[in-house]
Amino acid sequence: MRSKLTVIISTVLIFALLFSLAGCGGRAKSETGTESTSGETVTGDAGNQGNESNLDNESNSGDESSPRDTGKGDMDTFPEVTDEKGKEAEPGNRDENGKGTGGTKKGTDSEKQGTVPQSGDKLPGSTPKVEYKSVPILTYHSIGYEEGNSVRLPEGKFREQMQWLKDNGYTTISLDDLYSHFTQGTPLPEKPVILTFDDGYADNYEKAFPILKEFGFTATIYIITNTIDKSQGYLTAEQIREMAAYGITMGSHTCGHEELDKLSYEAQLENIRKSRETLENILGKEVRHFAYPIGLYNENTLKALREAGFKTAVTMNRGWAQKSNGLLTLSRVFVSSTFGMETFRERLTNPDYPVVFS
Ligand SMILES: [Zn+2]
Repeated sequence: MRSKLTVIISTVLIFALLFSLAGCGGRAKSETGTESTSGETVTGDAGNQGNESNLDNESNSGDESSPRDTGKGDMDTFPEVTDEKGKEAEPGNRDENGKGTGGTKKGTDSEKQGTVPQSGDKLPGSTPKVEYKSVPILTYHSIGYEEGNSVRLPEGKFREQMQWLKDNGYTTISLDDLYSHFTQGTPLPEKPVILTFDDGYADNYEKAFPILKEFGFTATIYIITNTIDKSQGYLTAEQIREMAAYGITMGSHTCGHEELDKLSYEAQLENIRKSRETLENILGKEVRHFAYPIGLYNENTLKALREAGFKTAVTMNRGWAQKSNGLLTLSRVFVSSTFGMETFRERLTNPDYPVVFS
């Protein structure tokens, strides 16, 4: 009698266990995120209509919060999700292969939960535990005012943001620091932040650089190398050298702001190599970091970057950078001129910051 009872109790317990396991599995699945294969498919710019307009394609791109730019260009990527903080607030999410399988950008969630080792398989040795910091990499372009142009941030606003970072104990780190942290576990300061500037505008030297020096901050500038010493409004070799000597990291942003995913593997590799070579000749040192124009890339791009020797690459995918992004597909935090300080503050303090249309 006693053993029969034991059998019955055991059976009930086993069933209960099976049910609970099934429940966990279902929940984990539901965490996979939204899909967006379109990425930053942007055609317009925010007003830089000059002969260099092509170089400014990012004017609208990656800016999930720039509805005032009449929505042109980024409509497909950033639908008019006006007031919800919901799913569509995941623009540009693509996995390392650019396929948009979703889920990878939920890394911040998983990190909080500390359970789901998603995409850890891409990085041997990574563990699902929270050992690596998530770091906000801020995306700037031009420091200069132009009405309605979300990527031209007035100098005063930039200064105010830098002041806030300083007052709140942030330390600017480099992409090399982040690379060491993600590959070797090198410690980072308590509140790390990375400042990046895309395209290589002359005002990065004229306006941003003096402010960075004033605050003792460092940054990374991703340069369109065909513009150097050639295009008005863009950095010269001399300016690049001076800033590099101070400690600003110089990265590549292709030769002519090409949409890389439209090019063959060979063409991508040639472009990427050439831009790297141009910068290395100016700097006299290795160039290790890259930013995708308009956030566009495909598997061939990743292959070409590895082949060319790049260590990191940043996208326009929204969110704080974390190890599970993959070193060549790091997420960034867009800073728009339309933001108030409150939005800026939120993006620096909340890894799951909502998309705000202000
Ligand atoms: Zn760009």
